[in-house]
Amino acid sequence: MSKIADRKNAKGAPLSSPDKKWSVVLMCPDCRKEPPNIVEDFASGDLVCGDCGLVLGDRIIDTRSEWRTFANDEGDDPSRVGNAANPLLDGDQLDTVISRGDGGSGLARNLNRTQGRTTAQKHERDLVQAYKEISSLCEAFAMPKSIIDIAKGLYKKVENDNLQRGKNNDAIIAACIFLACRQDNAPRTFKEICTLTKVDRKDIGRTFKFLKTKLGTDSGKTSSNDLIERFCSNLGLDQETRRITNILTGVAQDIENISGKSPVSIASACIYMASHLTGNGRDAKDISRIAGVGEATIRTTYKILYQNRKVLLTPEILREGSTAKESNLIGP
Ligand SMILES: [Zn+2]
Repeated sequence: MSKIADRKNAKGAPLSSPDKKWSVVLMCPDCRKEPPNIVEDFASGDLVCGDCGLVLGDRIIDTRSEWRTFANDEGDDPSRVGNAANPLLDGDQLDTVISRGDGGSGLARNLNRTQGRTTAQKHERDLVQAYKEISSLCEAFAMPKSIIDIAKGLYKKVENDNLQRGKNNDAIIAACIFLACRQDNAPRTFKEICTLTKVDRKDIGRTFKFLKTKLGTDSGKTSSNDLIERFCSNLGLDQETRRITNILTGVAQDIENISGKSPVSIASACIYMASHLTGNGRDAKDISRIAGVGEATIRTTYKILYQNRKVLLTPEILREGSTAKESNLIGP
């Protein structure tokens, strides 16, 4: 379809020989009109002769802008940009990847593989793999995108500081998710993350502690109050019971024998107490299932709460209009 033809410059004089050598003219082989009336049909990717309709080329690249520009004169018009750079990956992703498919000669596949062996590519692939893992784990637990993004950001930090050396990658991912949940004020317990990621609880705890000190990003302890909201909602408890549970856990922290208990155990026992106070009594078994705390732990913690009920049941809890009544309480 391309033909070398004699070309003339604008004034009609023949072009000098060096120019002539390179003057490749695109011309319809059918009607041979000069100048050719070639139409680019971007919709079908065809190059068509506008006079006779002969298809001259079937693989053209659409070089037009990807959007309509309304600015007439000011600023540049970056007409083609591709994807925005992903801050979670290294560099600006302007590299070229060799395609695998080439019609079955296998040559492209080999080239692709060779290119893939370069370290830069491998690092990026590992990152992408880890991000995929984080996404799928978090989505399995219906965690919001904000948590997923924080977890990915944390993982990137770990990679950048080379903290993952000699550590179990699954544990790193689990710890990142755990940290992300906390940072997004939606904490999960170690046990929940453990169930989610199938990583040993001790492993998560150890990795979490390590990352916390190295990254210095933890926004404080998992407070019982954050857990309560979620547990109460899962147990279908009303607002008043949640209010009371929150007050109870606050006061309970100061009770002597209870300080050794984990925030989750305290929260669970307080939910147990509050639910009975307001007449919405939940079984220790149900709370155990939702909170992931042993039934026996809830009972022993509740026992301490019950012994200290005179301190715990503040006027704020038994205020007028509240459904809470001390007589509703049951013994341990
Ligand atoms: Zn033609």
